[in-house]
Amino acid sequence: MRVLVTGGAGYIGSHTTLALLQAGHEVLVVDDLSNASEESLRRVAALAGRTPAFIQANVRDEAALDAAFEGFTPDAVIHFAGWKAVGESTQIPLTYYRENLGSTFTLLEAMAKHDCHRIVFSSSATVYGEMSEPPFTEDAPTGATNPYGRTKHMIEQILADAVAADPGLAVGVLRYFNPIGAHSSGRIGEDPKGIPNNLLPFVAQVAAGRRDKLMVFGDDYPTPDGTGTRDYIHVVDLATGHLAALDKLADRSGYHVWNLGTGRPTSVLEIVGAFEKASGITVPYEIAPRRAGDVASSYAHPGKANAELGWSATHTIDEMCADTFRWQSANPNGYADA
Ligand code: UDP
Repeated sequence: MRVLVTGGAGYIGSHTTLALLQAGHEVLVVDDLSNASEESLRRVAALAGRTPAFIQANVRDEAALDAAFEGFTPDAVIHFAGWKAVGESTQIPLTYYRENLGSTFTLLEAMAKHDCHRIVFSSSATVYGEMSEPPFTEDAPTGATNPYGRTKHMIEQILADAVAADPGLAVGVLRYFNPIGAHSSGRIGEDPKGIPNNLLPFVAQVAAGRRDKLMVFGDDYPTPDGTGTRDYIHVVDLATGHLAALDKLADRSGYHVWNLGTGRPTSVLEIVGAFEKASGITVPYEIAPRRAGDVASSYAHPGKANAELGWSATHTIDEMCADTFRWQSANPNGYADA
């Protein structure tokens, strides 16, 4: 199949591009490299033994997208491209709305124009917020508490409206829990710019000596050890979830939502312990106040994806930490070392 991947040079996009190539699909990546490096695609090509086509463009660029569809004639689209930092989204909300909503409009219009009817969208478990108790099923109430989350929630609704107007459209909304880890080769991984917001990149940089210590945001949550629990999922499992969703949408039009998670909650302190075990390095930490906007616990009920997609996450927390450590050790400054 021919798959156009927006944001394909980024963290999840690069791992999914690799999985697509390894499964024998043709891939065109459209990425403006605003938060990614072309080096990730060079490494994907080396790992796959095949080079994905690449166009450097913002997905909101109608002319560029039109040319991409015209030249590549995709059978399906995976839409990763988007701005993703919660804190930043509260500072520059209009940028988030413009980029995340605008790219989706441009993409859906290009798909309609070029007779492409299948799209998988990167949504987030953030849409479950604190409206119900985990484990979250796909029919749990949804909403959002910050501009980033609102863009994800709005795009889900926009996609549902697009399907209502065009029942031939096949939409798969994938609600990611917490992607961590890296490809087992250590060649591709997460390369955050500046100070990492997310737990694993921060822990990895503490272990690498780039940062003094981890701040553990809150130890007074109603969880077994008081620290927040999340459903961490290996990025390679996440990638294979996209392939499973694309396959399912080949014989099933309409609007479908699937959680991609393991169903298992892991606390911040459990992550620290697992990372120390995987790396052999002590990770100094300090208990700090809760971070604004954080929920105590978030984890998936992955049963719908398991049953409908024939997919399940297979990697353990220990493997996720070992792969993160391998990537971080081999690339202390991410792709900038290349
Ligand atoms: N966390 C932490 N210190 C950090 C970053 C994150 O204690 O420097 C905690 C955070 O409070 C949450 C968990 O780690 O309980 C996962 O946070 P992350 O930002 O990775 O993902 P989120 O679930 O918030 O999207």
